[in-house]
Amino acid sequence: MDTKTLREYDRRFVWHPFTQMLDWEMDDPLVIVGGEGSWLIDSDGNRWLDGVASMWTNVHGHCRSEINEAVKLQVDRLEHSTQLGLANDQAAILAKRLVEIAPPGLCKVFYSDNGSTAVEVGIKMAFQYWRQMGRPGKTRFISFKHAYHGDTIGCMSVGGIDLYHEVFRPLLFPTIQSPAPYCYRCTLTSQRDSSICDLLCLQELERLMEEHAGKLAGLVMEPLVQGAGGMIVQPEGFVRRVRELCDRFEILMIADEVAVGFGRTGSMFACEHDGVTPDIMALSKGITAGYLPLAATLSTQRIYDAFLGDYGEMKTFFHGHTFTGNPIACAAALASLDIFEKERTLELLPDKIELLGERLRDLSSLTHVGDVRQSGMIGGIELVMDKGTGEPYPWEERIGVRVCREARKYGLFLRPLGNVIVVFPPLSISLEELQLLMNGIKESISAVTG
Ligand code: PMP
Repeated sequence: MDTKTLREYDRRFVWHPFTQMLDWEMDDPLVIVGGEGSWLIDSDGNRWLDGVASMWTNVHGHCRSEINEAVKLQVDRLEHSTQLGLANDQAAILAKRLVEIAPPGLCKVFYSDNGSTAVEVGIKMAFQYWRQMGRPGKTRFISFKHAYHGDTIGCMSVGGIDLYHEVFRPLLFPTIQSPAPYCYRCTLTSQRDSSICDLLCLQELERLMEEHAGKLAGLVMEPLVQGAGGMIVQPEGFVRRVRELCDRFEILMIADEVAVGFGRTGSMFACEHDGVTPDIMALSKGITAGYLPLAATLSTQRIYDAFLGDYGEMKTFFHGHTFTGNPIACAAALASLDIFEKERTLELLPDKIELLGERLRDLSSLTHVGDVRQSGMIGGIELVMDKGTGEPYPWEERIGVRVCREARKYGLFLRPLGNVIVVFPPLSISLEELQLLMNGIKESISAVTG
C-alpha cells in the first residue's frame, strides 16, 4: 500500500499515545514498515537510525535472524496457552533463566505483559504481603518526584511527573513522595554536586520513612536512572543507600527495571551496580529484546512464602492477565538471552559507553545545553534557555520536539522528554552508527537553539 493511503488510514483511525492529535493530524508521519539492525525503514524506503530503540525496548537490533527464527518456530508449535491452570514450556524455561541472571535472592517469576502491569503486580504483592504477615497497617507506598512507573492507576499513584499525573490525581491513591536525586535541579540545596551536598534527598527520604514507617508497605523506584522524568541519573551508591533504609524501616523495595533492565546501564540489571537485591523487581521492554509484549515481576522466597496457605485462608495472589507467559513472547526472550551469551553483549558495551560519554561531554559546551547525563547506554541532554541560571525553555516552545524534528535531516529518529533529548539506541549499535547519531544530535541542537 502506498504511503499516502497508509497515512490517511493512520490519521483517520488511529489515536496515538502521548500525542496531541490535532498536531498529528496536520503532520505527515513516517510510516515504518521494516527494520534492520539499528535502522527503521519507512514506507518510502528511507532509513532512520533508531535513536530511542523503539520506546527503549530494542536490544540486539531490529529483525535479528536468531529471534525471528525462534518466534517462527514457536508460532508453528504453540501460539498461546493460559498460565491459569496450565504451565507452558517456554515460560517455565524462561523463568529459570531469569532467576539465574537476576540479583541473587530473586527466585520467583510472576508474568504479565507490559511495564505498567509488572509494577502494578509488585505494588499489589507488597500490599498483600504485609496483610498476610499480620501487619495490615502497612498499606502505603513511598516513591520519588519525577518517577514514572506506567499509566495504570496504581503506577500513576507512585508516579511523580505532574504533566502526566496531575489531571488524574483525584483517581489516584495517596502516596508519600520523596525528592528526586535530580542534582541539576535540586530543590534542597543550591549545590549541584552530589559529592558535596551530603545527599540531602536521601536524608529527606530517611526522615519520611521514619515518620511513616509503620504505615509503609513498599518503596517504588527506578534504580540508577529515572527515565521518563528526563533521564535523571542518581548519584553513586544511591540505590544501595535506599536499600539500607528500606531494610532499617521494614519497607519492601520494589525496583522498576522496566527501562534499565537487560544491559541498558552496562550491567544486566541496574541494581547490580550497587550489589542490591530488591524484594521485588519489575521487568519488561528489553526482556524480549523489544520484540513482543512481555513482563515479569520477580520476588524473593520470603514474599512468595507469605502467599502460601490452606486454600480457605484466601492467601492466593488474585491477579493475572490473559496473555501472561505467552509462549511466543517467552521464546523471543529466550532467544535474546542466547544472544546476550553468544555475542557477549555486555562485554562489548564499555567501548560504546565510553564513546557515548565523550560525545555527551562534548555537547556540554553548546550554549543551550544545561546538563548532560549518562548511565551506560542512556544519555540525557537537557536544553535550557539560559545556561547561567538554568532557566528552562517554556514548555510551549517545544524545543525538544523541534530538535528531534531537525534530526530527521540527518536520518535520525529521536523522541524527546520535554526539553531533554534522549539517547537510547539499541545496545547493538556500532561505534560508527553511534558517531552518526551523536553528530546528528549535535548539529540539530546547534541549528535549533542557535
Ligand atoms: N516503568 C518504567 C521505568 C518505564 O520507563 C515504563 C515505560 N516507559 C513503564 C514502567 C511502563 O511500561 P509500559 O509502557 O510497557 O506499560
